[in-house]
Amino acid sequence: MTRHYNFCAGPAALPTLVLERARDELLDYQGRGLSVMEMSHRSEAFVAIAERAEADLRELLAIPDHYRVLFTQGGASLQFAAVPYNLLGAGGTPNFLHTGIWGKKAISEARHLFGAVHLAASSEENGHSAVPRQEDIVLSEDAAYLHYTANETIGGLEFDYIPEARRPDGTPVPLVCDMSSSLLSGPLDVSRFGVIYAGAQKNIGPAGLVVVIVRDDLLDQARGDMPSLFGYKTLSEAGSMVNTPATYSWYLAGRVFDWLQRDIGGLAAMDAINTRKAARLYAAIDGSGLYANPITLRNRSRMNVPFVLADPGLDRPFLEEAEAAGLLNLKGHRSVGGMRASLYNAVPEAAVEALIDFMADFEKRHG
Ligand code: PMP
Repeated sequence: MTRHYNFCAGPAALPTLVLERARDELLDYQGRGLSVMEMSHRSEAFVAIAERAEADLRELLAIPDHYRVLFTQGGASLQFAAVPYNLLGAGGTPNFLHTGIWGKKAISEARHLFGAVHLAASSEENGHSAVPRQEDIVLSEDAAYLHYTANETIGGLEFDYIPEARRPDGTPVPLVCDMSSSLLSGPLDVSRFGVIYAGAQKNIGPAGLVVVIVRDDLLDQARGDMPSLFGYKTLSEAGSMVNTPATYSWYLAGRVFDWLQRDIGGLAAMDAINTRKAARLYAAIDGSGLYANPITLRNRSRMNVPFVLADPGLDRPFLEEAEAAGLLNLKGHRSVGGMRASLYNAVPEAAVEALIDFMADFEKRHG
């Protein structure tokens, strides 16, 4: 059996140790004679798995007690609708920072559902190569909340700071963040946020699960016409089991949290590894004559590294040779082309070294 190095943007690589542990208990979970996939979500065994996953996530991120943690479904994309439904009960306008394709999708969904949105700042003018600075962010007088995308997975653009969300008169509003491709890449001050959400299929676990972290004073701000399954309060009161949850994805996410805490040593340790990996790859790109990345240094994503080849005619041979060398999923998103190496937590430093060696060798032969 060979596991290749997988640079997929999502569903992404999972830690081999986690998969091995899941394999070992796949058919018979801890002597119960059945798989986790075959258990009732209401069984004592599964409820214990679910509670342990939440406790481990709380420990990893030092989530304060006045935040609820939800394990829900529908992808991060469903949160583009769930967030406005949950937060617009008292009216007001959703405010957004637009920094790329995912932020734009969130804006489009809110506009589609509720009409008016306010763009508090955008990086469109610089081609999404640098995030707006705090002084350029101007909320509307009636802002209900400010939504932004911490890391644009396709553009490879990452915030290097947490924005302040205040109306022009100084009133704070909840800060809402799509952290699908950056949650768990390092420590985070959860107390700065009203709502954090993330699709699981990057740093958390398999697809099919979404983690939402919500401050409990926001549970009573929902619109009356909200579909009940969207509701943070409903989900929270039911322990995220309003209906059948994505049990196996939840279980594996718990295994990933356990790996992060006990095998890696927590998020500060993970952060140091991620910084090293990204720095090594960006240095290789910047030092070459063939590869280029256009993002401002301070906003270069640590998780998703897009790069182009000076001659696009070399894209195809690059991808074919990379795959033959066991370096998978380096093709950029279909909307932008080029290459993208996603360096999520489960991508080991050895994978990055192998990629850098391959890129140097490819440049020698084709550059
Ligand atoms: N937001 C971001 C930042 C993403 O990277 C993605 C998926 N790549 C999404 C939202 C959408 O996630 P999903 O496919 O789970 O709906």
